[in-house]
Amino acid sequence: MRTQVAIIGAGPSGLLLSQLLDLAGIDSVVLERQSRAHVEGRIRAGVLEDQFQALLRRAGVGARMDAEGQIHDGIAIARGDRSLRIDLAGPTGGRRVCIWGQTELTRDLFAVREARGGAVLDEAADVALHGIGEERPWVTFRRGGVEGRIDCDFIAGCDGFHGVSRRSIASGRLETWERVYPFGWLGVLSETPPVSPELIYAGHARGFALCSMRSAGLSRYYLQVPGGTDPGDWPDARFWDELRARLPEAAAAALVTGPSIEKSVAPLRSFVAGPMRHGRLFLAGDAAHIVPPTGAKGLNLAGSDIHYLSAALIAWYGTGDTEGLEGYSERAMARVWKAQRFSWWMTRLLHRFSEDPPFDRRLQAAEFDFLAGSQAAQAALAENYVGLPY
Ligand SMILES: Cc1cc2nc3c(=O)[nH]c(=O)nc-3n(C[C@H](O)[C@H](O)[C@H](O)COP(=O)(O)OP(=O)(O)OC[C@H]3O[C@@H](n4cnc5c(N)ncnc54)[C@H](O)[C@@H]3O)c2cc1C
Repeated sequence: MRTQVAIIGAGPSGLLLSQLLDLAGIDSVVLERQSRAHVEGRIRAGVLEDQFQALLRRAGVGARMDAEGQIHDGIAIARGDRSLRIDLAGPTGGRRVCIWGQTELTRDLFAVREARGGAVLDEAADVALHGIGEERPWVTFRRGGVEGRIDCDFIAGCDGFHGVSRRSIASGRLETWERVYPFGWLGVLSETPPVSPELIYAGHARGFALCSMRSAGLSRYYLQVPGGTDPGDWPDARFWDELRARLPEAAAAALVTGPSIEKSVAPLRSFVAGPMRHGRLFLAGDAAHIVPPTGAKGLNLAGSDIHYLSAALIAWYGTGDTEGLEGYSERAMARVWKAQRFSWWMTRLLHRFSEDPPFDRRLQAAEFDFLAGSQAAQAALAENYVGLPY
């Protein structure tokens, strides 16, 4: 089989790239290790920056998001019983985020690729990348017991943190930077009305909590838990009691609880691998970087990578212009590092770091006080939360 761009991974990065390329008349094949049903069922991110919303509209997958997503122009940052509303729209010239689940977005992307006859080969095992330093790379895989080979001009490694693409780069050619946190987030999805119309990020001596949502009748809540926590140790009643204990009083009193329909633990990690280009291989999204979810940046960074990469490939196929491809890594990584900084800052502001000496605890309290008293600090938070420019 021959295509122009072989794309590894059918997460948001891979599917969005294949769709944007298709709209520009560029052929691609997406190889996905899991089944389509598995990928569509994953509960992950849910806060979309306005530029990512615009990118989805441009890709022809904005209709359901615009009809059913919720536009938010503020978030709450709490510490104990103090709660502070951060106005997102005012200091950013009216920019807002949209609450639209990654699950829904992924379904729309799969549907549009199917409707346009796009090749998305799921349940592809043993994907291997070859000749990434050469002009004609190729990819091999096994599907339904049959060996396959795709010859291509470029490979896009969109296969997430645990994928094969980053690992295909010769050792010594890739630099990595990493911070692993000693805690994770225990997430619960429940068919209950959200406790508040806006997200609440709550710092507390017992640990961080987040009140988020997917829709008017579907809530997503998180608790900071120690690394290695088994969700099985957290029956619903224990989860709700602990969440109430970490929220400001008014929010705790308003919390409506119900049976969880999903419960899982996500570890927290900050990670960057660069450069994001090696010969004919381009890394994008979680394959190249992970942020702790506190700043809601993971999915949005996948969006900005795909914005840069799709534009670069379209320019190359259209006019032979190599500038976009040559500058891809530097451009994408500049934005990634700023999002890393913001995600780290939000994580540091709100989580309980058990190893912190008292001095650091006082700094954390001072950081919140400063934020509460400074319009400039609140504007900086808002600017980062709605997303730095592409
Ligand atoms: C549990 C969890 C919760 C999260 N919560 C949030 C959140 O609240 N907010 C936020 O902003 N971000 C969150 N994120 C991050 C966000 O979901 C990711 O940033 C986003 O999914 C990145 O998209 P991607 O397409 O780059 O990678 P992925 O979505 O990981 O997609 C990669 C795809 O590649 C496939 N793949 C892997 N290996 C291979 C292989 N060898 N061959 C073929 N295919 C392969 C995978 O099956 C997957 O479908 C969360 C992530 C996780 C894991």
